[in-house]
Amino acid sequence: MSGVVFDIAGFSLRDGPGIRTAVFLKGCPLRCVWCHNPESQNLAPELFFEPEKCAGCGKCRTVDCPVNFDRANCVGCGRCAAVCVYGARRIIGRRMTAAEVLAAVRRDVPFYGASGGMTLSGGEPLFQFDFALELLKLAAAEKIGTTVVETCGELPTEHLLAAAEYVELFYFDLKAADPGLHRRLTGRGNRTIIGNLEALAGTGARIKVRCPVIPGCNDAPAELEAVRRIVSGFGLGAVEFLPSNPAAAAKYAGLNRSYPAGSGRGSTFSGAADSSGAALTGPVSSPKRTDGSSGTPE
Ligand code: SF4
Ligand code: SF4
Repeated sequence: MSGVVFDIAGFSLRDGPGIRTAVFLKGCPLRCVWCHNPESQNLAPELFFEPEKCAGCGKCRTVDCPVNFDRANCVGCGRCAAVCVYGARRIIGRRMTAAEVLAAVRRDVPFYGASGGMTLSGGEPLFQFDFALELLKLAAAEKIGTTVVETCGELPTEHLLAAAEYVELFYFDLKAADPGLHRRLTGRGNRTIIGNLEALAGTGARIKVRCPVIPGCNDAPAELEAVRRIVSGFGLGAVEFLPSNPAAAAKYAGLNRSYPAGSGRGSTFSGAADSSGAALTGPVSSPKRTDGSSGTPE
């Protein structure tokens, strides 16, 4: 079993309790206008370009590019990145087997202590469901620490519940209570997400609900109160309201995409995702994580 991974971050202190190994899987059904991990959205590996690292040597132009260097049609073959010794071009995402991922995770096991372990993040880690489930089963079989999954909740209920058998803690995002607002901000309504939250709560799973609070998007007091009410209605604890991360614009540029929330004010953003969850504006997405920050599918 293999899947597409875009980062494995060791010694993470930000993706769950204790010291963790965070495995970031590509692919997400949502397209949040403020997403600070655009490299996580598309399933396929993608080219990322940083012009400030480019030395202008021209080596990348010597490869046999299947799309004649038309970035809008780049298929992420990686030929140009392979010859770029300056690291200006790189491919985000690589196919790995579950055994390869677990081998990387195992290196951190001596540091986990009582509370650390593996965190599956993304993207939506359960978007690649069979692969994610395999990782969870392998970690459980080896008793590799405590396992955390960071989910956006937009996935088949049966997938969520099947994964729950191998997960000690879920970080579950609820980004807006109002269905229309949720659709405008993420490309999808929230009926499946709220239904999944209720179903998961019904199993007795340990869940921490989080809500990224984005100025101009979902920060109206009535909206935040409505999120609180939904969560308390399912018998879950306090919602963790998270501050926005404004550092995403450069990532979108590296992926040759427009930054949907470029103004920093989602309410002024007019190109919100359509009802199919398709890409918002501009071409495709994706970069290497360097900040060690959470890969929550925001
Ligand atoms: S190979 Fe790398 S450094 Fe050289 S021109 Fe291409 S992107 Fe720039
Ligand atoms: S990664 Fe994209 S731009 Fe680079 S050689 Fe392949 S298709 Fe061409």
